Amino acid sequence: MADVDASSQKGDTDRSDWRRVSVLLPYPLGPYDYLAPPEMNLVVGDYVRVPLGPREVLGVVWGEGLGDVSAKKMKPVAGRFDAPSMPEIHRRFIDWVGAYTLSPPGTVMRMSLTAPKALEQPRGGVAFRRAQTLPDIALTPARRRIFDVLEERGTAAAQELAEAAGCGVAVVRGLADSGALETVMMPPRYPAAAFEPLGDGPTLSDDQVLAADRLKAKLGAGYSATLLDGVTGAGKTEVYFEAVAANIAAGRQSLVLLPEIALSAQLLDRFARRFGAMPALWHSDVGPAARRMTWRGVAEGKTKVVVGARSALFLPYCDLGLIVVDEEHEAAFKQEDGVIYHARDMAVARAHLGGFPIVLVSATPSLESVVNAEAGRYDRLYLPSRHAGAALPRIGLIDMRRERPPARRFLSPMLTQAVADTLAAGEQAMLFLNRRGYAPLTLCRSCGHRMQCPNCTAWLVEHRFQGLLRCHHCDHAEPIPTNCPQCDNVGSFAPCGPGVERISDEVSELFPDARVSLLASDMFQGFAGRGMALQEAIRQVQDHEVDIVIGTQIIAKGHHFPMLTLVGVVDADLGLTGGDLRASERTYQLLHQVAGRAGRAQRPGHVLLQTYMPEHRVMQALADNQREAFLAVEADERRAAAMPPFSRLAAIIVSGPDTAEVGQVARELARAAPRGEGIVVLGPAPAPLSMLRGLHRERLLLKARRDVPVQPLMSDWVNRVAIPGHVRVQVDIDPYSFL
Ligand code: ADP
Ligand code: ZN
Repeated sequence: MADVDASSQKGDTDRSDWRRVSVLLPYPLGPYDYLAPPEMNLVVGDYVRVPLGPREVLGVVWGEGLGDVSAKKMKPVAGRFDAPSMPEIHRRFIDWVGAYTLSPPGTVMRMSLTAPKALEQPRGGVAFRRAQTLPDIALTPARRRIFDVLEERGTAAAQELAEAAGCGVAVVRGLADSGALETVMMPPRYPAAAFEPLGDGPTLSDDQVLAADRLKAKLGAGYSATLLDGVTGAGKTEVYFEAVAANIAAGRQSLVLLPEIALSAQLLDRFARRFGAMPALWHSDVGPAARRMTWRGVAEGKTKVVVGARSALFLPYCDLGLIVVDEEHEAAFKQEDGVIYHARDMAVARAHLGGFPIVLVSATPSLESVVNAEAGRYDRLYLPSRHAGAALPRIGLIDMRRERPPARRFLSPMLTQAVADTLAAGEQAMLFLNRRGYAPLTLCRSCGHRMQCPNCTAWLVEHRFQGLLRCHHCDHAEPIPTNCPQCDNVGSFAPCGPGVERISDEVSELFPDARVSLLASDMFQGFAGRGMALQEAIRQVQDHEVDIVIGTQIIAKGHHFPMLTLVGVVDADLGLTGGDLRASERTYQLLHQVAGRAGRAQRPGHVLLQTYMPEHRVMQALADNQREAFLAVEADERRAAAMPPFSRLAAIIVSGPDTAEVGQVARELARAAPRGEGIVVLGPAPAPLSMLRGLHRERLLLKARRDVPVQPLMSDWVNRVAIPGHVRVQVDIDPYSFL
C-alpha cells in the first residue's frame, strides 16, 4: 500500500508530546481522537487508517483532537494515504448535510468514500512502442500494420493497437514476446481530463445566446442560483453546454446532475460531440475501475466534467465551479434511504458553500423553484419556443366515460384510430403507461382472494414475460400459482388492470403487422448507462426500426425521436390517486414530459390523454397548455393549506418487526411532540405502506412555519424518547414520499 506507515507503534514509546487529531469514520459514530505520529505530518482532510477495535478502518482527519481522553488510552493513527486531502469546502459540505438531514456526519462522509481503492496511487496502463533494433521476424501483413500504427502514434496500448491494425491482441502480444515491441508505462488516464481544443456548439438562436451569455457571466462571480426554464426541445441543454464549455475553458470543474433514469446514451453522445470527449460518468452502476479513476481524477482536479446521478454530489471536487441540475423537478433526486436528502437542495447548498453558480433546468420546474424565482432568490431564464420553429404538440383529452374500450381492453377506439392513422402516415406512435408488468392485481374469480406480498402492504404485480408475481416494494417474487392459495381452485386467477406488458399484447392483436417495442426498466439489466440492450432498443426507436413503442417512465425523459408524432397516455389519472401533496404537480410534470416526446422534429406532434377526469385542472392545464395558470392555482392551494413551499415539513417514520412496539414508540413520540407558535404535529398513524419489507411502520408529521428552524426541534424531539433496539426511528426533512 502506498501510504505512510507509523514507524513505531510499540507501547513503550513516549507519546506525551504527540498531537491529537480528531478523525471522522464512515460510520454513525464519532469523530474519535487519535494520536498523530509526528513523522506523518498530518493535516486536516488527510485520509488515514486508524485502529477501531480489532480492525483497521479508513477515516478522514476532521480537526484538532478534543483532548478529553488521556493520551495513554489513545491509539495512534496507523497510516496516511498518499492522496490529495479532502478539501475544506467538501468537509464543510459533509457537516452541513449532516446537520440539515440530522444524519451523523460519518454516515454522510461514507457517501464520499465509495471508491476506497482510489486512495492508493493510481497506476497507468502498459503501452507498446517499436523496439530500437528489430529481431529477425517474419513481417506478416498484420505485423506490418501494427508498425504502421506505431509509426503514426508512437505508443499505444495493446487493445488500441490491435483495433487500429485490425488484428487480434494476440498478434500484438506475440510481437512483444519476440522483442519487436517494448513496453512503456503510461501515466494514469483520468476521464474527462482532456478537452482542448474545445469544439464549437451549434449556432444559437437569439434567445439561446441571451440565456447562455447570462449564465457565462455568472461563472467565477460567486454564488448564484438560476432557474433555466423553457419548453421541451427549446435548447436548454445546448445553453447549459455553453456554460460548461466556458467553465472548462476557465480551468474549473463542472458537475451535471441528472436523475439516474435520464442518464441516457443520447445525452452522452451529444456531450461527446459537443466537447470531443466523454464526461466522467458517476452513478450506482459504474464499475470499480472507472469509479476509482474518476474519484481520483476529481480529487486531483484533473477530471473536469462529471455527469452523474445524485451521488456525484459527494465526490471530493478540488475546484468545482459550476453545478447544473437537469430535470430539477424530478422526485428521483430525493434519496429515501440511508441519509435521506434531496440532491437538488443539497446542490444549492454546495454551490453556496463553494461560492459558484448553480443552474436548475426544467421544462416543468418544481413549485419550490418557481416560488424561489418569484421571491428573487433565484434568477430566471426562459426559452419560449422550440428550436427551429418545431411546433409544440397539440394535446387532446379522451373522456373514457364515453369512449369505452371493448371488454378487457384498455385502448379506446379513438386512440386506436389515432395509432392506425399515424402508422398509415409512415410515422411512429408511443403508448405510455407508468406501470411495469402485466397486471397490477391478480384476483381469484371464485373466492375473491387477492395475491398480496408477504412482506409489504402491497399487491403482487404479475410479470407475464418472467412468469412471476413480483412485489414492487421489496425483492419478493414467486411463480404464478396454479391453485388459489385460499380456495384451492385451479385456473381461477384473473388479471385486473393493465401494465405495459398487457398493453403490448393488446397492441400486437390490434396491429399485427406493426413493429412493436416494449420498454420498461425491468426488461433490461438496468438503465441506459449500463444496459446495452436498452441503448440498442432506444436506438431502434430513434432510427425508425420500430412503429409503436410502449413503455414506462424510461421512455418519458430526454429522448429525441424524430419520427415520433403521436403519444398516447393510457391512464393519465394514474398519479392523481393517493394523498400525495404533490400529486397534481407530479402528474402535470410527467405528462408534460411524455407529451414533449411528440413532434420534436419537422412533423407536428399530437398527444392524446385517456382520462376519467377530463375536467380535472391538471388535464385542463395540459390540454390548454396553461402551465403558468396551473402553477398559480397550485401555489394558491398550497398557500391556503400552509403546505410546502409555504411551510416546512419533517416526517418521522417509526418501523420495526413488532407492531405493538412500533405503536408504543410512535405514541410516546406523539406525547413528546414539540409545541409552540407555528408548529402542528400530525399522527401517529399507520403509514399507507403500513408494512414494508416485513417491518411495521407508523408515521408522524411536523408542519412548521417557514421561519421555524426545524432541525433543532426534530433532534430534541427524537432525543426525548427512549427507543428500543429493534425499533428504528428515521427523520425525513422535507419529505417527498408519504408512503
Ligand atoms: P431541451 O434541453 O430544452 O429539451 P435540447 O437542448 O435538447 O432542448 O434541444 C432540442 C433539439 O434541438 C436537440 O436535438 C438540439 O441539438 C437541437 N438544438 C437546440 N438548439 C439548437 C441550435 N441552436 N442549433 C441546432 N440545433 C439545436
Ligand atoms: Zn414486498
